[in-house]
Amino acid sequence: VTSSGLVIIGGSDAGVMAALWAKDRAPELPVTLVVRHAYPNFSICGIPFYVSGETPEWPMLAHRTVDDLEALGLRLLLNHEATGIDPIERSVTVIDRDGDALTLGYDMLVIGTGAEPVRPPLPGIDLPGVHVLHTIDQARRLHDVVLDGTKRAALIGAGYVGTEMADALTTRGLEVTVIEMAPAVLTTFDPDLGDIVGAELQRHGVTVACDQRVERIEKHGDGSLRVVGTPNLDVAADVVLVAVGVRPETELARHAGVHTNERGAIVVDRRMATNLEHVWAAGDCVHTHHILVDKPLYLPLGTTAHKQGRIAGLNAAGADHAFAGSCGTQAVKVFELVAARTGFRGIEAQAAGFDALSVTVEVDDHKAYYPGSTKIVTRLTGDRRSGRLLGAQIIGAYGAEISKRSDIIAAALHHRANIESLNDLDLSYTPPLSSPWDPVHVAAQAWLRAAR
Ligand SMILES: Cc1cc2nc3c(=O)[nH]c(=O)nc-3n(C[C@H](O)[C@H](O)[C@H](O)COP(=O)(O)OP(=O)(O)OC[C@H]3O[C@@H](n4cnc5c(N)ncnc54)[C@H](O)[C@@H]3O)c2cc1C
Repeated sequence: VTSSGLVIIGGSDAGVMAALWAKDRAPELPVTLVVRHAYPNFSICGIPFYVSGETPEWPMLAHRTVDDLEALGLRLLLNHEATGIDPIERSVTVIDRDGDALTLGYDMLVIGTGAEPVRPPLPGIDLPGVHVLHTIDQARRLHDVVLDGTKRAALIGAGYVGTEMADALTTRGLEVTVIEMAPAVLTTFDPDLGDIVGAELQRHGVTVACDQRVERIEKHGDGSLRVVGTPNLDVAADVVLVAVGVRPETELARHAGVHTNERGAIVVDRRMATNLEHVWAAGDCVHTHHILVDKPLYLPLGTTAHKQGRIAGLNAAGADHAFAGSCGTQAVKVFELVAARTGFRGIEAQAAGFDALSVTVEVDDHKAYYPGSTKIVTRLTGDRRSGRLLGAQIIGAYGAEISKRSDIIAAALHHRANIESLNDLDLSYTPPLSSPWDPVHVAAQAWLRAAR
């Protein structure tokens, strides 16, 4: 088998980043991407906005087109699935849609097989009309169903995908019910902050059913679906979307002898190297180094997949870079609200062994005398013993720079700042945008006062 240079399995965020950064470092290196479908380098994160109609055409979700990628020197094997890796021979078996097989030799291999949506083993989960959402094909199917006169949607799971989709389907004119097992929506936030987002959903007509455990999905004679559960869940719907999280897609890697952890995520070092020589991995299929605890957690996010893909690609092309790590920074827009978080919230920090103190302030995003000011809720978490900054959750109006304020905290976390130095930061001020003390400073001051 002749070598194809660098072979990459998966053509989404991690795979394409690996390809582009490998090319950046070694322009002559042949790079082949094996892509199961026909949509390389699409923005999965943009799917809710295609379903909502805010992004009118699905091809607009492409970060880069096939032509762009080929012009950058990449060889794309679209509609090809990798079915086996032979780490001794250094080859990958690939089959196309007709079942024809091909063997690709490699010098270096990057696994970027991502994640797949979890389908809880509920009766009725495979009924027609029950959707999951992770690929462009799935997005197109749901989009077409939604445009086809569908009136009622039930969403199982109110994480960031569930809440974005509640917004999207409501925007499309559907009657939406969100069902969540936890006491509040947006389960990666403290429940009382999740409730602020829950109230925003309700303000836009979404029915929010928290503390409800789905037991089954039924199909009725008139073709409608029913989501039934305890303690008192019975929601009629024409379409059901299940968004209860993802699991790493790593069977192919495991079969080849790549080590995975108890969650099934590929174990990599900070260089994104697996236990197999010449085999790297990145993105939703791997665990992620967390900067606050200095150990890996599973944090599947597009932003992380980009950064890890870059490191895997550079190193596969001969460099020696380390992934700096992540602190779980994420943001979500739900109707007119934005919720952002970074680092640990109180219970996570406590579980990680810190003496967590969380303090909440609610202040104007900019000087109230300038039109359009709104209140921002900032909850800052730090370690009482050392004063170290551990994280923040921030909620406020779209346009009030919520995510960028959270990103100030993320930058500080990356530099292991304490809360005193967060208060010292030279942040910008002009009345239409902030105050002499930005909400970030005000939160830091409140925390320091509480800790005293
Ligand atoms: C609706 C939605 C919204 C999101 N919004 C955000 C957001 O706002 N911000 C954010 O940071 N993240 C967001 N994410 C998460 C983000 O999309 C993922 O973290 C990111 O796509 C991970 O990239 P990846 O390349 O690791 O994996 P994936 O995107 O899962 O891609 C892996 C690819 O590998 C292919 N593949 C797998 N096995 C094989 C094989 N054997 N042969 C060939 N191909 C194979 C798969 O078909 C897939 O295309 C969102 C996800 C969803 C579903």
